[in-house]
Amino acid sequence: MDLKVLAIVVPCYNEEEVLPSSNEQLISVLNNLIEANKISKDSYILYVDDGSKDRTWSIISSLYEKSSLVKGLKLSRNKGHQNALLAGLEYAKDHADVSISIDADLQDDINVISKMVDYYLEGHDIVYGVRSDRKKDSFFKRFTAQAFYKLMNALGTNTVYNHADFRLMSNRALEGLFKYNEVNVFLRGIVPTIGFKSEIVYYERKERQAGVTKYPLKKMLSFAFEGITSFSIKPLTLILRTGIFISFMSVMTFIILLVMDLMHYQNVDILVYLGILICFLLGLNLVGMGIVGQYVGKNYVETKARPRYIVEEIKD
Ligand code: UDP
Ligand code: MG
Repeated sequence: MDLKVLAIVVPCYNEEEVLPSSNEQLISVLNNLIEANKISKDSYILYVDDGSKDRTWSIISSLYEKSSLVKGLKLSRNKGHQNALLAGLEYAKDHADVSISIDADLQDDINVISKMVDYYLEGHDIVYGVRSDRKKDSFFKRFTAQAFYKLMNALGTNTVYNHADFRLMSNRALEGLFKYNEVNVFLRGIVPTIGFKSEIVYYERKERQAGVTKYPLKKMLSFAFEGITSFSIKPLTLILRTGIFISFMSVMTFIILLVMDLMHYQNVDILVYLGILICFLLGLNLVGMGIVGQYVGKNYVETKARPRYIVEEIKD
């Protein structure tokens, strides 16, 4: 049986401080796998320079000159982690049998890579790297990450808990991924919807070795918002439901007060009726928006033109 070509895809944005040491470690991981006869010697590390402003690309170029295991891909400008990753994965789809994506700072444990490859060789198409604890994160990061996962799941995007973008994907899983035509991609949400046999490996996430996080709060928030709006039209449904609820409650309150008024239990001020009327109209307004929202939502889902199905195997 031919050995499989593995591509390790590493998005890099202003990573001059960590690249040389990360490269050394990744090369040794790759060499070990090659020596153990688990993967082909044509396997490689693909660095994707996401429009860095520092020396990242020149470092990648010199690593490429020095080692046959290194490849580089440079984006024309900064397009963000997800897009840089996608660019690398799209290359890997055509030039490798299996890919593993990992951040340049190697906060994710490279020692589980061989376990990922083992799962792949056993016939799994997707292997998620899942962090077993978040002790090393700041309280703030931990809290926001937790809230993010909960919110996402509540709104109908099923992500793998505590999984970032450290994952193995086989060639056919990548082919499936690139059948999704949408431009705004939220990989963590999409990958679980591709299907195929998957596994999880657990690891402890380390602190960043050098440099600073490229995910400040602002990027994190827009990432979270992207995750929700690119996946779920539940917020629109929520508007409709709220509208129905408010209108219904207004009508009920009106009836109850009117009956009490007519039976002389209670003298109801005309202003109270006015208040109820305003609530009712507000609710009606929301119902209208919610209904329009349903159409907009349907349209949105259609525009994304996601694959109806992905074939796993054919015998013919
Ligand atoms: N990254 C990127 N483009 C960006 C921001 C980040 O390619 O616009 C890369 C970055 O180089 C790193 C990975 O995405 O390899 C994760 O970023 P970082 O480690 O800063 O995020 P954190 O681990 O703090 O969430
Ligand atoms: Mg990091």
